[in-house]
Amino acid sequence: MRLSNMLFVTLREDPAEAEIPSHKLLVRAGYIRRIGSGIYAYLPLMWRVLQKVSQIVREEMNATGAQECLLPQLQPADLWRESERWDTYTKAEGIMFALKDRQDRELGLGPTHEEVITTIARDMIRSYRQLPINLYQIQTKFRDEIRPRFGLMRGREFIMKDAYSFDVDPEGLEQSYQKMNQAYHNMFRRSGLAFRAVEADSGAIGGSRSQEFMILADAGEDEVLYTEDGKYSANTEKAVSLPPDAEPSPFTTYEKRETPNTPTIETVCQFLKCSPTNVLKNVLYQVVYDNGMTVLVLVSIRGDQDVNEVKLFNEITAAAEQYNAKTVIALTVPDANSQQKWASKPLPLGYIAPDISDDYISPSKEVAPQILRLVDKTAVELKNFLTGANESGYHVVGANWGEQFQLPRVVDVRKAKAGDRAIHDPSQTLQSARGIEAGHIFQLGTKYSQSMGATYTSESGEELPFYMGCYGVGVSRVAQAAVEQSYDKDGIIWPVAIAPYHAIISVPNVGDADQMAAAQKLYTQLNEAGIETLFDDRNERAGVKFKDADLIGIPYRIVTGRSLKEGKVEVVERATKKSQDIAIDEVMPTLKQWIDTALKA
Ligand code: ATP
Ligand code: MG
Repeated sequence: MRLSNMLFVTLREDPAEAEIPSHKLLVRAGYIRRIGSGIYAYLPLMWRVLQKVSQIVREEMNATGAQECLLPQLQPADLWRESERWDTYTKAEGIMFALKDRQDRELGLGPTHEEVITTIARDMIRSYRQLPINLYQIQTKFRDEIRPRFGLMRGREFIMKDAYSFDVDPEGLEQSYQKMNQAYHNMFRRSGLAFRAVEADSGAIGGSRSQEFMILADAGEDEVLYTEDGKYSANTEKAVSLPPDAEPSPFTTYEKRETPNTPTIETVCQFLKCSPTNVLKNVLYQVVYDNGMTVLVLVSIRGDQDVNEVKLFNEITAAAEQYNAKTVIALTVPDANSQQKWASKPLPLGYIAPDISDDYISPSKEVAPQILRLVDKTAVELKNFLTGANESGYHVVGANWGEQFQLPRVVDVRKAKAGDRAIHDPSQTLQSARGIEAGHIFQLGTKYSQSMGATYTSESGEELPFYMGCYGVGVSRVAQAAVEQSYDKDGIIWPVAIAPYHAIISVPNVGDADQMAAAQKLYTQLNEAGIETLFDDRNERAGVKFKDADLIGIPYRIVTGRSLKEGKVEVVERATKKSQDIAIDEVMPTLKQWIDTALKA
């Protein structure tokens, strides 16, 4: 491609809308253009990158025997009502764009395709003989993200590869899942990315296994906890660990103490000279379920530990049924304003005990009359602990479960932290890294097949639900994440495997016939050899061309400059800026070898 013919516009200034380096660079280098909130145009250079990522994904999927298809983006509401997700997706969570056609029929724009694929399987897969099957597609997804940001990282329209597997039983599903696990490792490795596969939260669907693939980068929204021995890595949302040992309690007898102005763990520990590990902390949450019911949840946890709200979210989702609800709409720490909705009198905040009375709630049709009480595992072992006295300015000390307080339901809602000891080997401590979630593989089990009545006839003639898995890769997010992982002050540094072009020929002076002739010859030669090459034949100053070449991040730059009179050109490697003069006839074989080596890595 000749730059003089291309829609090629680079910007010197960072765009105001962009916060993270990869977003700034992709806009400045002319890869993407914002059309609306979370809506981007993929310009020609970007489209080539996306095609490369897609092709790697496609090859690795095909190698597992998965079959490519293309599913509709317009999805009838009825399908989503069968799986009971229409209301959650369009109202409660609200992530799905919903619309009505001119016959007043409701439709959604596909944020994901479990419903569509399950209908197909229900109709077309009749017998165990047809299984296993894995179908995938690569296409645009629509999600009305509440906070679209960071360019392609969190768009409202983005490209995803999604695959769905169907098996006869859990063992079959496990095999399909392992194949995907391998394929995902291959995809990210081949794309030239540093990544980590981590245990992930699967939401409230009990028993399901899931793993995320994190591209490591400081701007990542997710935190990963891992051990150096390589045996453990998990998203913090899911991570488990051993808490530090508690110190022995200095309190021996149960009594109430006046502790003025000590609403925090720190202040009360200072006042009563004890360790936060001697304290039982009680955190009040407010939950709103999809049926409008508000429930107050009191979580008791050891004073030096924090609540992991994702784990808590899963626990209260699991409790939804007892309130005739299905899903959780909001989980918050109630502020003064929201307390007005249900509090019958001011709460002794900062001094709450696990047995705080249900009388603080003025019950109504929308507010559950009883507090849902949970205790984290870390707090169960506490002896002679300190906790609130349900009265402002007072605590109790020397308290014990089964004596002064009844033990509530025990759960794991503790947040694991960097520095904690690992469960599999306490000599290992958890390390922290930031990551961008690029892929997610997930064992669904029979959730959708059961709700949508998708069954097959087994070998013994029984009608049984499919065991399903789903497997996503954010193709457009991966492309941007690659930039987030690899850039310098001058611009993007693409991994060779997904760079839009392998090489760029920069002609310092297009008025010089020798330079143009050499460039032209190389351009033809390289392209014929399958080395995808850009030709910067614009009538611009050499400095501008070099800056642009660095900015757009093409792995190898060829300059038809001073060494031309010795029959050589300068070849510069973008990543290292290393430059060498190479005889014109040697350029093609040399580049070919470099590129092949990079692609094999
Ligand atoms: P997130 O937690 O980041 O919102 P998710 O759990 O909703 O992601 P999945 O539903 O598992 O994501 O989708 C599969 C993949 O699609 C993700 O791993 C991610 O790479 C990508 N993805 C999800 N949402 C977006 C988005 N809004 N913009 C770009 N890519 C996305
Ligand atoms: Mg999401």
